[in-house]
Amino acid sequence: MSNFMAVVEKPHAVCIPYPAQGHINPMLKLAKLLHYRGFHITFVNTEFNHQRLLKSRGPNALNGFPDFQFHTIPDGLPPSDVDATQDIPSLCDSTSKTCLVPFRNLLAKLNHTSSSNVPPVSCIVSDGAMSFTVEAAEELGIPEVLFWTTSACGFMGYVQYQHLIERGLAPLKDESYLTDGYLDTVIDWVPGMKEFRLRDFPSFFQTCDPNDLMLNFVQGEVERAHKASAIIFNTFEDLERDVLDALSSIFPPIYTIGPLQLLQNQISDNGLKSIGSNLWKEEPACLEWLSSKEPNSVVYVNFGSITVMTPQQMIEFAWGLANSKQSFLWIIRPDLVVGDAAILPPEFVTETKERGMLAGWCPQEQVLKHTSIGGFLTHCGWNSTLESVCGGVPMICWPFFAEQQTNCHSACKDWGIGMEIDNNVKREEVETLVRELMEGEKGKEMKSKAMEWKKRAEDATGPLGSSHVNLDKMVNEVLLSNK
Ligand code: UDP
Repeated sequence: MSNFMAVVEKPHAVCIPYPAQGHINPMLKLAKLLHYRGFHITFVNTEFNHQRLLKSRGPNALNGFPDFQFHTIPDGLPPSDVDATQDIPSLCDSTSKTCLVPFRNLLAKLNHTSSSNVPPVSCIVSDGAMSFTVEAAEELGIPEVLFWTTSACGFMGYVQYQHLIERGLAPLKDESYLTDGYLDTVIDWVPGMKEFRLRDFPSFFQTCDPNDLMLNFVQGEVERAHKASAIIFNTFEDLERDVLDALSSIFPPIYTIGPLQLLQNQISDNGLKSIGSNLWKEEPACLEWLSSKEPNSVVYVNFGSITVMTPQQMIEFAWGLANSKQSFLWIIRPDLVVGDAAILPPEFVTETKERGMLAGWCPQEQVLKHTSIGGFLTHCGWNSTLESVCGGVPMICWPFFAEQQTNCHSACKDWGIGMEIDNNVKREEVETLVRELMEGEKGKEMKSKAMEWKKRAEDATGPLGSSHVNLDKMVNEVLLSNK
């Protein structure tokens, strides 16, 4: 018998998120789940976000572990040390044009230095909006999974851009098409989507410019999705069955592996739990404040990491909340208001100081799980929507851009857990909807639906649940396929 034991090399996944908060969060969760399944992980941030993470989480936050390492590539934008969200069209333009070269170099470096500690790169898990990585995977002859961090319905909306253009519905003929009811046109030809209106498509088609950067960027990313070994979504089968069925007939194998937030409960604490991904410093006092409140008594208001609003919109939200007489936790990101710093009327602050808490950033997942939260006024980013589902929390939806419009439609029309608020927000409507959410009949119905969806999300991520099974299948059928 040989004295040598066969040394089995670990598979090595390089995980690369699109460099924005709503993409880094789910990718980090997935990376941890893969690590738990025995993968060596290289997690690739942009230099800009790496610096922000060190600032918000402390200088040792990204030291990683021997088999879970952080690396960086430049995003191609001019250097900046501003602590704010980068301009999304510029970032899409620059990542798609400049990141392939540094990414390819990083892969070469990882393979060059490979040893028993760093096995050769065996697969790539890339954000769907970073599809230039497909080329790098092809060059190395390794599988690549594209992780679309949108809902499946949002992705379906993007897939339809081609048809919108072919049918002459996009780009818009002129600006008047944005205001004259045109966007309420009913669209009955999108597979898996019911009661769908033009305005429910992801917002980037609402341009008059055929060369619009985002309109073209999205189409390029969708096109390249066909080249991936597989596509994954942070969703679950029950939630988006019809759309998923429709997508499955068009694209490479699709695996639904969400909500990742629940799936990651299976990881026993191996030290990785402490690695977080918030680009802003969390204010944990929010949780203490919530604990002083009655169950289901607080409206949580947060518009995510990218949404911006005018000073007037902010004032309308403020007075709507004040006049609703409900308790609220309102997160006002330092760069939430366009132009100047966010300034709230002093009378609003005085009037609501007993029942309102304001903060700049919070640990949202924990907030949405808190028993005091009764409702969520949200921009319908996909992570926020899913976190709301996991908390069993009904929503008021004020979608800002991208596929948030589509998520809002699904939350309100398909899942029965949301009420839409007019984009041209007025304090009276905010007041009425907040009261309805917290005290009305519709609010009660939505709460009970939200609790049903929470249960189904838990089932999907339990040991025999579809998302749990799908993650294992995706690992075995795709990521380990060349081992
Ligand atoms: N988030 C957070 N604290 C905040 C605001 C947001 O932790 O105060 C997290 C939130 O939990 C979610 C992500 O940031 O995971 C935002 O992603 P989403 O898709 O909802 O919206 P986006 O920021 O991309 O518009």
